[in-house]
Amino acid sequence: MNWETLTQIDRRHIWHPYAAMPNTQPVYAVARAEGCSIELANGKRLVDGTSSWWAALHGYNHPRLNAAAAAQLAKMSHVMFGGLTHEPAVRLTQLLLELLPPALNQVFYADSGSVAVEVAMKMALQYQQAVGQGKRCRFATIRAGYHGDTWHAMSVCDPEEGMHGLFSSSLPVQYFLPQPASPFHGEWQPESIRPLENLLAEKHDELAALILEPVVQGAGGMYFYHPEYLRQARALCSRYGVLLIFDEIATGFGRSGEMFALEHAGVVPDIILLGKGLTGGYLTLSAAVCTEEISAAISRGQAGAFMHGPTFMANPLACAVAAESVAMLRESPWRQWVTNIEQTLRRKLAAAAQWRCVREVRALGAIGVLEMAQPVNTASLQPRLVEKGVWVRPFGRLVYLMPPFVISQQELDFLAEQTLAAVAEEYGEAWPQSEECYTR
Ligand code: PMP
Repeated sequence: MNWETLTQIDRRHIWHPYAAMPNTQPVYAVARAEGCSIELANGKRLVDGTSSWWAALHGYNHPRLNAAAAAQLAKMSHVMFGGLTHEPAVRLTQLLLELLPPALNQVFYADSGSVAVEVAMKMALQYQQAVGQGKRCRFATIRAGYHGDTWHAMSVCDPEEGMHGLFSSSLPVQYFLPQPASPFHGEWQPESIRPLENLLAEKHDELAALILEPVVQGAGGMYFYHPEYLRQARALCSRYGVLLIFDEIATGFGRSGEMFALEHAGVVPDIILLGKGLTGGYLTLSAAVCTEEISAAISRGQAGAFMHGPTFMANPLACAVAAESVAMLRESPWRQWVTNIEQTLRRKLAAAAQWRCVREVRALGAIGVLEMAQPVNTASLQPRLVEKGVWVRPFGRLVYLMPPFVISQQELDFLAEQTLAAVAEEYGEAWPQSEECYTR
């Protein structure tokens, strides 16, 4: 199919994420992707700065992941999980158990990140019912968080700044705490925890769980907060019988500089959520992993079982690729790669800190952020980025880079420099083009 026909049919008939019909934003047809390079149908190659939304840790078209998928396809792509089990699910579980804190060892596989959030919230409700606390049916969270697009996941996304404000009149009403005021790289300010302390003291008998993204708030603002918040939140939740859910769908598998972001704080939640990078970005799969205390209580409760069971639960193809991806990550020098990405992004992006259009530049793990003073005009900035040979997807006030961990130094330098060049051009900032730019 030629590139014009393809994009015409796409524009006329296919929805894209958070898009109008017909789409008012540019959409680029991709012919193939390999390593950290996305090749467009018109032959242009882009260095990937997104990992396809936190997922493609090992880059694209990886021979080991391809082989794992092919080997599993030759056996079976899918069988139902009701009454059946298989080696890919068991192998993946063994690998996850070796990485997670030992208390988190009861694994529920779901289809996507949002569904894992729904599953965790249902687990919390069934747990509270089972322990005689059925009145605890609400959730607390922090502002500027993002947990997905399904119904209860939307209810714990930021109600004003988030993407789901339109639905607020029909969403369950939850308790929102201010975003933790102490940033990751700053001093801990004890007042940061007061709102949570007060909420739990007053409302604990209504609250089933506190759900948050540990350390890194992703799609809600790319904000990095102090790990002490998590240590104190853990103690408060335990004191008041409120479960603690960590959504590590974006942060899991090394992205924040630790295998799981909870390790920055040394805190173990009651439920952890994994997704995105779980399959190395190959297929959709997520997991909600809880403690035996929770699974035992749910299983003793009124229903005698956990009431969730999707058609594609623990899809063997996805589990086989995920197991390979997790094994590859463990064998790799991922910590060194991520540290290098953090240092490079911090150093390179610092050049923009003085620009009037930029409010703040920050980096943590394999994430680099330009927080702009005003919302970005994606329709104008995106084509500039593509023209400069990088795939970066700005949203709101954020232009951010989170490349695959396997990105080469040359590609990483190119990615950062060309992103700055596109932003400088967009806002009329002076930016000397480096002659050392990576050229392919
Ligand atoms: N939680 C977090 C922290 C996320 O970043 C996302 C996706 N951006 C989700 C949940 C939802 O995951 P999915 O898009 O796979 O449903």
